[in-house]
Amino acid sequence: MKPIEEIKPLLESPKKVVITMHQKPDADAMGSSLALFHYLQQKGHQTTVISPTNYPDFLKWMPGCDLVIDFESANDKALEVMKGAELLFCLDFNNIDRTKNMAPVIEKMTAIRILVDHHLEPKDQFDYGVSDNTAAATAQMIYEMLYTLGEEKYINPAMGECIYAGTLTDTGSFRFSSTSSRVHRMVADLMDRGLKHEFIHQAIYDNFLENRLRFLGNSLLNRMEVFYECNTAMIAIPYSDLRKFDLQTGDTEGIVNFLLSIQGIKLAALIIDRNVEVKLSFRSKGDFDVNTFARRYFDGGGHFNAAGGRSGDPLDKTIQRFIDAMHANEDLLQ
Ligand code: 5GP
Ligand code: MN
Repeated sequence: MKPIEEIKPLLESPKKVVITMHQKPDADAMGSSLALFHYLQQKGHQTTVISPTNYPDFLKWMPGCDLVIDFESANDKALEVMKGAELLFCLDFNNIDRTKNMAPVIEKMTAIRILVDHHLEPKDQFDYGVSDNTAAATAQMIYEMLYTLGEEKYINPAMGECIYAGTLTDTGSFRFSSTSSRVHRMVADLMDRGLKHEFIHQAIYDNFLENRLRFLGNSLLNRMEVFYECNTAMIAIPYSDLRKFDLQTGDTEGIVNFLLSIQGIKLAALIIDRNVEVKLSFRSKGDFDVNTFARRYFDGGGHFNAAGGRSGDPLDKTIQRFIDAMHANEDLLQ
């Protein structure tokens, strides 16, 4: 993979550009993609953002989100745009498989592939790019990329909002160890450029329906188990709960973090039966590496303290596999 600086000549004449992100995008995937979109639009490129799947309502306030194409619901349109693309930006994922049904189409595209991502162990699938696991968010990397390219004059308020949103959520509201002085300096710079932050917190965190809060209550009361011998807490959600509380995409985000608020807990797991497959989310405090854990046991990956995976087994069997994996790591969890 050639360094990101070398894309500069590619951006000097108008190009057809597609930006994509991981499936079920979160605020960082969407925020980094839209920030890059606003920059490329200003540069005169014909740019389209394609999401592999749908995404939560609490991202829809982001400037430009109304122009994003959902690969699943607007498939014909997405395929046509992808066919003509000269450049493909891949944001906030390290493996093309993370784009779900888009992956086989991406494999066939002739566009130059450019990676901007902060996950561990990127695959060797990209022509140009930057992979930086010390970055708190891909959105932060887009901001830094513009400085690297000498293009920081293009950072406008709309981009500031997208970059702030991605960084806000990926740092757990500026609390995880990834929240470096680089992050705080970036936020200060964005504020100097006119960023208003308060409404972004409200749009992301204070924007759910009543049923989501009742679902959270039910999950904590009835679906949580604590394994003190392994300093681990788990919530396992049957598919019937998702239906009963009429949960929408994004409603389960953040719930895994509540488990880490229990004194002494080092490993938190949220296991959700999504009917076709079971999805697992892991979080850890301190020196337990959930990226390795997710890779080894659940065909996943992510970051040192936040990762995810999946299982093709039914929920009960997946829970048992998780408990076995936890016990196999008992020493590391002490
Ligand atoms: P979450 O638990 O919030 O879905 O994801 C936590 C982190 O792990 C995110 O950075 C996400 O990109 C990554 N992640 C989640 N699920 C998977 C997966 O199935 N495979 C891989 N490689 N990474 C995942
Ligand atoms: Mn991210």
